[in-house]
Amino acid sequence: MDCVIIKKSHIDGLGAFAGKEFAKGELILEIDYSDVVDDPNHLDPSVKPEHLETFLDGTVILMHAPEVYINHSCEPNSYLRTIGESWCVYAMRAIKKGEELTHHYSVSNFQNWNMKCRCGSANCLGIVPGDFFRLPINIQLQFIPWLDDWYQEMHRERLAALIGEQVF
Ligand SMILES: [Zn+2]
Repeated sequence: MDCVIIKKSHIDGLGAFAGKEFAKGELILEIDYSDVVDDPNHLDPSVKPEHLETFLDGTVILMHAPEVYINHSCEPNSYLRTIGESWCVYAMRAIKKGEELTHHYSVSNFQNWNMKCRCGSANCLGIVPGDFFRLPINIQLQFIPWLDDWYQEMHRERLAALIGEQVF
């Protein structure tokens, strides 16, 4: 039984769907990031820009199925975490078999793009920024626990200030 199934998404194009139930915190898949793109400016025309991922050191990789089909949602059910040399997708909450797997694309990100969102969740932002710190403050606060460890470490002071600004 496949843990992740690719089929048409209600959000955008193809999506990745849970092929089984996942418990909160369970590992869904390990991302293959071994396909390094030598020259991102001269790509094969069949390569879609949204299938590329740029790392902090400027390395560009081509993502593959099934992870490349994980769509964004403003109310996601999965998150990414770097564990040693592994880059993994975990369940943010219990996920039922057949649910579409989604992440929040702004989380742990630092890109200058903005993306129109059609995720359909009740609190959809409409426009999703490619940088966590361009999210509305209340959304930043909501997603701090889901930032990857390296991102939290890199922005430790900025995140502490953000938490300190909360009014209780
Ligand atoms: Zn949305």
